Amino acid sequence: MSVSVSVVGARGRMGSAVCEAVRQAADLELLAQLDKSADTDSRAAIAQLAGRVQVAVEFTTPPASKDNVHALIESGIHAVVGTTGWTQAKLERIRDHLASAPHVGVLIAPNFAIGAVLAMQFAAQAARFFTGAEVIELHHPNKLDAPSGTARQTAIGIGKAWQQAGIQPGPDSTESGWQARGANVAGVRVHAVRLPGLVAHEEILFSNPGELLTIRHDSFDRSSFLPGVLMAVRKVGVHPGLTVGLDRYLT
Ligand code: NAP
Repeated sequence: MSVSVSVVGARGRMGSAVCEAVRQAADLELLAQLDKSADTDSRAAIAQLAGRVQVAVEFTTPPASKDNVHALIESGIHAVVGTTGWTQAKLERIRDHLASAPHVGVLIAPNFAIGAVLAMQFAAQAARFFTGAEVIELHHPNKLDAPSGTARQTAIGIGKAWQQAGIQPGPDSTESGWQARGANVAGVRVHAVRLPGLVAHEEILFSNPGELLTIRHDSFDRSSFLPGVLMAVRKVGVHPGLTVGLDRYLT
């Protein structure tokens, strides 16, 4: 039996690509496409999908996404969320809401490109061997949030690995001009570059005296995200509760 799917943000760059990928997949059925311009109140439009749609894929904007995800949980629809800009506080509210809908699965993945997910894993693995690490993310200039969700997640993974290994990062003698040193995420400096022509790129630099390790991932095209999105659509139903990051689905 095919999985019934709705795409929220269906006219967007990612949403329209996901619609096409779902249409092409023999085991998935595209039942609904929602957009802000077509549906002034997306919460009400989502409520109408209850009982008809099993999984919704959500690629909208950071302010819209949290309302959409809460509406999907209320309607008992599993959610595969690609919109970035999630804070820890917003994630906690999703987790609290899911306590009242324990059968619903929500996956919030800052990056659906399998290579980017692996780069994050490799970075977390490498961190305990280096005292210096910085993350540079490079994106197209239409991106609304900075630094990217992937870069944040990568930095959090490095910070966690440092903490577990009892590593004190450094040295850094900067006394002034801290804004030029990027954002501090979990003790890791994260730099955001916005340039026309780019899609989504990340470079993780690790150093020790005398050596530098660079882990780099490039998404040249939005098609890089689609296999990960389709995999998530197929698996989200067997992962109830909140999952952050596609890596949990890669096992
Ligand atoms: P986009 O082209 O601007 O598309 C966003 C779409 O969402 C637009 O069609 C917009 O409609 C619609 N929208 C806005 N508010 C809405 C609402 N309340 N309900 C329903 N639809 C609404 O953006 P994009 O490039 O597709 O990116 C979308 C998000 O995905 C961004 O946060 C981006 O960073 C993220 N992203 C994530 C990944 C990943 O792998 N996780 C990959 C690429 C992008 P209107 O045009 O009518 O306002």
